Amino acid sequence: MGESLYPNLENLNQVSGLATALLVIDMLNDFVSGRMKCGDAAKIIPKIKALTEVFRNKGLPVIYICDTHYPGVDRELELWGDHAIAGTWGAEVVDELKPQERDFLVRKRRYSGFFQTDLDLLLRELKVDRLALTGIDTNICVRHTAADAFFKGYRVAVVKDAVASWDGVEGNEKGINYMSEIYGAETLEAEEVEPGLEKGDRANP
Ligand code: ZN
Repeated sequence: MGESLYPNLENLNQVSGLATALLVIDMLNDFVSGRMKCGDAAKIIPKIKALTEVFRNKGLPVIYICDTHYPGVDRELELWGDHAIAGTWGAEVVDELKPQERDFLVRKRRYSGFFQTDLDLLLRELKVDRLALTGIDTNICVRHTAADAFFKGYRVAVVKDAVASWDGVEGNEKGINYMSEIYGAETLEAEEVEPGLEKGDRANP
Protein backbone atom coordinates (compact mmCIF):
# COMPACT_ATOMS: atom_id res chain seq x y z
CA MET A 1 0.00 0.00 0.00
CA GLY A 2 1.46 3.37 -1.00
CA GLU A 3 1.06 6.58 0.91
CA SER A 4 -2.44 7.97 0.70
CA LEU A 5 -2.95 10.89 -1.66
CA TYR A 6 -5.71 12.11 0.65
CA PRO A 7 -4.56 11.59 4.26
CA ASN A 8 -7.16 13.99 5.62
CA LEU A 9 -9.96 11.96 4.12
CA GLU A 10 -8.54 8.84 5.75
CA ASN A 11 -8.59 10.57 9.12
CA LEU A 12 -12.16 11.65 8.49
CA ASN A 13 -13.16 8.02 7.89
CA GLN A 14 -11.53 6.96 11.12
CA VAL A 15 -13.40 9.62 13.03
CA SER A 16 -16.78 8.97 11.44
CA GLY A 17 -16.27 5.21 11.93
CA LEU A 18 -17.55 3.42 8.87
CA ALA A 19 -19.07 0.07 9.63
CA THR A 20 -20.13 -3.34 8.34
CA ALA A 21 -23.63 -4.34 7.22
CA LEU A 22 -24.90 -7.91 7.01
CA LEU A 23 -26.52 -8.75 3.66
CA VAL A 24 -28.92 -11.71 3.57
CA ILE A 25 -29.39 -12.51 -0.10
CA ASP A 26 -32.40 -14.36 -1.55
CA MET A 27 -33.22 -16.57 1.44
CA LEU A 28 -36.73 -16.82 0.02
CA ASN A 29 -39.29 -19.63 0.17
CA ASP A 30 -39.03 -20.40 -3.56
CA PHE A 31 -35.27 -20.96 -3.28
CA VAL A 32 -35.12 -22.74 0.08
CA SER A 33 -38.09 -25.12 -0.23
CA GLY A 34 -40.22 -24.04 -3.18
CA ARG A 35 -40.20 -24.23 -6.95
CA MET A 36 -36.48 -23.44 -7.39
CA LYS A 37 -35.17 -25.22 -4.35
CA CYS A 38 -31.43 -25.06 -3.72
CA GLY A 39 -30.53 -28.23 -1.83
CA ASP A 40 -27.94 -26.64 0.46
CA ALA A 41 -29.89 -23.45 1.26
CA ALA A 42 -31.64 -24.84 4.35
CA LYS A 43 -28.28 -25.88 5.83
CA ILE A 44 -26.99 -22.29 6.07
CA ILE A 45 -30.06 -20.92 7.87
CA PRO A 46 -28.62 -21.42 11.41
CA LYS A 47 -25.37 -19.61 10.52
CA ILE A 48 -27.25 -16.68 8.98
CA LYS A 49 -29.66 -16.55 11.91
CA ALA A 50 -26.78 -16.36 14.38
CA LEU A 51 -25.17 -13.56 12.38
CA THR A 52 -28.37 -11.53 12.20
CA GLU A 53 -28.49 -11.66 16.00
CA VAL A 54 -24.86 -10.55 16.36
CA PHE A 55 -25.41 -7.59 14.04
CA ARG A 56 -28.71 -6.54 15.64
CA ASN A 57 -27.17 -6.74 19.12
CA LYS A 58 -24.35 -4.47 17.97
CA GLY A 59 -26.78 -1.98 16.46
CA LEU A 60 -25.44 -2.71 12.99
CA PRO A 61 -27.62 -3.00 9.89
CA VAL A 62 -29.12 -6.26 8.67
CA ILE A 63 -30.25 -5.86 5.07
CA TYR A 64 -32.34 -8.43 3.23
CA ILE A 65 -31.83 -8.49 -0.54
CA CYS A 66 -34.85 -10.11 -2.14
CA ASP A 67 -35.60 -11.23 -5.66
CA THR A 68 -39.08 -9.90 -6.51
CA HIS A 69 -40.26 -10.44 -10.07
CA TYR A 70 -43.21 -9.29 -12.16
CA PRO A 71 -44.63 -12.22 -14.16
CA GLY A 72 -44.80 -11.65 -17.90
CA VAL A 73 -42.63 -8.55 -17.54
CA ASP A 74 -39.19 -9.41 -16.13
CA ARG A 75 -36.80 -10.55 -18.84
CA GLU A 76 -34.89 -12.62 -16.28
CA LEU A 77 -37.90 -14.97 -16.05
CA GLU A 78 -37.47 -15.92 -19.71
CA LEU A 79 -34.21 -17.55 -18.69
CA TRP A 80 -35.25 -19.24 -15.44
CA GLY A 81 -39.02 -19.53 -15.48
CA ASP A 82 -41.25 -17.92 -12.88
CA HIS A 83 -39.79 -17.57 -9.38
CA ALA A 84 -40.03 -15.14 -6.48
CA ILE A 85 -43.13 -13.54 -7.97
CA ALA A 86 -44.11 -10.28 -6.28
CA GLY A 87 -46.83 -10.71 -3.67
CA THR A 88 -46.53 -14.51 -3.44
CA TRP A 89 -45.29 -16.83 -0.68
CA GLY A 90 -42.32 -17.76 -2.87
CA ALA A 91 -40.98 -14.20 -2.75
CA GLU A 92 -41.10 -13.99 1.06
CA VAL A 93 -38.08 -14.47 3.32
CA VAL A 94 -38.20 -17.91 5.01
CA ASP A 95 -39.91 -17.95 8.41
CA GLU A 96 -36.70 -18.84 10.30
CA LEU A 97 -35.04 -15.61 9.12
CA LYS A 98 -38.00 -13.23 9.14
CA PRO A 99 -36.83 -9.60 9.06
CA GLN A 100 -37.22 -7.78 12.37
CA GLU A 101 -38.45 -4.30 13.08
CA ARG A 102 -35.20 -2.41 12.47
CA ASP A 103 -33.93 -4.50 9.55
CA PHE A 104 -34.02 -3.28 5.97
CA LEU A 105 -35.40 -5.03 2.91
CA VAL A 106 -34.30 -4.18 -0.61
CA ARG A 107 -36.18 -5.69 -3.54
CA LYS A 108 -34.35 -6.45 -6.77
CA ARG A 109 -35.34 -7.70 -10.22
CA ARG A 110 -31.92 -8.83 -11.41
CA TYR A 111 -29.03 -10.77 -9.86
CA SER A 112 -27.24 -7.85 -8.22
CA GLY A 113 -28.61 -6.24 -5.08
CA PHE A 114 -27.33 -2.92 -6.43
CA PHE A 115 -28.87 -2.96 -9.91
CA GLN A 116 -31.71 -0.39 -10.09
CA THR A 117 -32.31 -0.53 -6.32
CA ASP A 118 -31.67 1.92 -3.48
CA LEU A 119 -29.04 -0.29 -1.80
CA ASP A 120 -26.13 2.07 -2.51
CA LEU A 121 -28.05 5.08 -1.15
CA LEU A 122 -29.03 3.11 1.94
CA LEU A 123 -25.45 1.98 2.61
CA ARG A 124 -24.11 5.52 2.24
CA GLU A 125 -26.72 6.90 4.62
CA LEU A 126 -25.88 4.14 7.11
CA LYS A 127 -22.15 4.96 6.77
CA VAL A 128 -21.36 1.40 5.79
CA ASP A 129 -18.16 0.63 3.91
CA ARG A 130 -17.95 -3.15 4.33
CA LEU A 131 -20.48 -5.82 3.44
CA ALA A 132 -20.69 -9.30 4.93
CA LEU A 133 -22.41 -11.42 2.28
CA THR A 134 -24.61 -14.41 3.11
CA GLY A 135 -27.34 -16.33 1.25
CA ILE A 136 -27.76 -17.83 -2.20
CA ASP A 137 -26.68 -18.43 -4.92
CA THR A 138 -22.94 -18.04 -4.43
CA ASN A 139 -22.39 -18.06 -8.19
CA ILE A 140 -25.31 -15.88 -9.20
CA CYS A 141 -26.83 -13.25 -6.91
CA VAL A 142 -24.11 -13.27 -4.24
CA ARG A 143 -21.42 -13.02 -6.91
CA HIS A 144 -23.08 -10.21 -8.87
CA THR A 145 -23.78 -8.27 -5.70
CA ALA A 146 -20.13 -8.71 -4.73
CA ALA A 147 -19.07 -7.47 -8.17
CA ASP A 148 -21.12 -4.28 -7.91
CA ALA A 149 -19.95 -3.73 -4.34
CA PHE A 150 -16.35 -4.01 -5.52
CA PHE A 151 -16.97 -1.66 -8.46
CA LYS A 152 -18.48 0.91 -6.09
CA GLY A 153 -15.60 0.73 -3.62
CA TYR A 154 -17.15 -1.27 -0.77
CA ARG A 155 -15.06 -3.86 1.01
CA VAL A 156 -16.55 -7.33 0.63
CA ALA A 157 -16.46 -10.25 3.06
CA VAL A 158 -18.00 -13.55 1.98
CA VAL A 159 -19.16 -15.73 4.87
CA LYS A 160 -18.09 -19.16 3.61
CA ASP A 161 -20.39 -21.27 5.77
CA ALA A 162 -23.37 -18.95 5.22
CA VAL A 163 -23.55 -19.05 1.41
CA ALA A 164 -24.74 -21.92 -0.78
CA SER A 165 -25.09 -22.86 -4.43
CA TRP A 166 -27.19 -24.96 -6.79
CA ASP A 167 -23.80 -26.18 -8.00
CA GLY A 168 -23.23 -28.06 -4.72
CA VAL A 169 -20.31 -27.90 -2.34
CA GLU A 170 -17.67 -27.80 -5.06
CA GLY A 171 -19.41 -25.08 -7.06
CA ASN A 172 -19.90 -23.12 -3.86
CA GLU A 173 -16.20 -23.28 -3.10
CA LYS A 174 -15.28 -22.25 -6.64
CA GLY A 175 -17.58 -19.25 -6.38
CA ILE A 176 -16.08 -18.17 -3.07
CA ASN A 177 -12.56 -18.44 -4.50
CA TYR A 178 -13.59 -16.40 -7.54
CA MET A 179 -14.84 -13.54 -5.34
CA SER A 180 -11.66 -13.71 -3.31
CA GLU A 181 -9.39 -13.58 -6.35
CA ILE A 182 -11.31 -11.16 -8.54
CA TYR A 183 -12.92 -8.79 -6.03
CA GLY A 184 -10.38 -9.11 -3.22
CA ALA A 185 -13.13 -10.40 -0.93
CA GLU A 186 -12.24 -11.56 2.56
CA THR A 187 -13.48 -15.10 3.14
CA LEU A 188 -14.50 -15.89 6.69
CA GLU A 189 -16.42 -18.41 8.76
CA ALA A 190 -19.53 -17.03 10.47
CA GLU A 191 -17.79 -17.09 13.86
CA GLU A 192 -14.93 -14.98 12.50
CA VAL A 193 -17.00 -12.08 11.22
CA GLU A 194 -15.93 -8.96 13.07
CA PRO A 195 -18.92 -6.70 12.67
CA GLY A 196 -16.82 -3.57 13.13
CA LEU A 197 -17.72 -0.57 15.17
CA GLU A 198 -20.78 -0.45 17.31
CA LYS A 199 -23.25 2.33 16.82
CA GLY A 200 -22.13 3.95 20.05
CA ASP A 201 -18.57 4.04 18.78
CA ARG A 202 -19.70 5.70 15.61
CA ALA A 203 -21.63 8.37 17.44
CA ASN A 204 -18.87 8.96 20.02
CA PRO A 205 -15.54 8.15 18.42
ZN1 ZN B 1 -34.59 -13.92 -10.09
